[in-house]
Amino acid sequence: MLVAGNWKMHTNREEAIQLAQAVVAEVGDPGPVQVAVCPPFVNLEVVRQIVEHTPIHLGAQHMHEEVAGAYTGEVSAPMLKAVGCRYVILGHSERRQYFGETDAAVNRKIKRALQYGLIPIVCVGETLEERQAGKAATVVERQVSAALDGVALPSAEALVIAYEPVWAIGTGHTATPAQAQEMHALIRHLLVKQYGEEVGRALHILYGGSVKPSNAADLFAQPDVDGGLIGGASLKAADFAAIVQAAC
Ligand code: PEP
Repeated sequence: MLVAGNWKMHTNREEAIQLAQAVVAEVGDPGPVQVAVCPPFVNLEVVRQIVEHTPIHLGAQHMHEEVAGAYTGEVSAPMLKAVGCRYVILGHSERRQYFGETDAAVNRKIKRALQYGLIPIVCVGETLEERQAGKAATVVERQVSAALDGVALPSAEALVIAYEPVWAIGTGHTATPAQAQEMHALIRHLLVKQYGEEVGRALHILYGGSVKPSNAADLFAQPDVDGGLIGGASLKAADFAAIVQAAC
């Protein structure tokens, strides 16, 4: 199980310090569950100082595909690695929707992240319109296939997929456990097809979209749900810790 908190564009420096300290205290020893927090870039360093030597790992929310160069405002894989990141979220629906991130760009970013030993948390998921048109499975299949095109994995630990239906992100409308499992099973099938039984079955597939302490256990009980990517609820340490507890 893996539970990762996506803090999005929240927390100034002081708030990030307080939230990271509270997460460390509230989560305590998560046992076999892997836990990560993904603060904004400018707070990565200060959060690293708090979480290093604890079970909490550090992740970034986004990354440019090039290593360095004239890309004003962007941050690269070696920069994230140097500041202590283990994970990087790629292809979040907000990046796709507001910043035009394409499947092809996500694919290049995954390859770059892997080259620098970062674990990409690759987000896929359909919009409400696509679901209502009966296209959810087709969209997710396209996103997963395009993201992983030509991607070789050194191990099942090297990459994580997050199924995040866009209609469930930040809306309070969570997918039912059955809806989540249906899509996770499809993703599992694609992973097994590409990477074989052993790796395909061992890869983490997270669910994201309005996960709360009240619904986490039912979602995590599904056979192909291996944890969660948590937005809003990760900004409250007690809620985040309760979600981690639900994964234990
Ligand atoms: C997210 O942004 O990845 C997310 C899942 O957000 P929320 O939990 O707030 O729906």
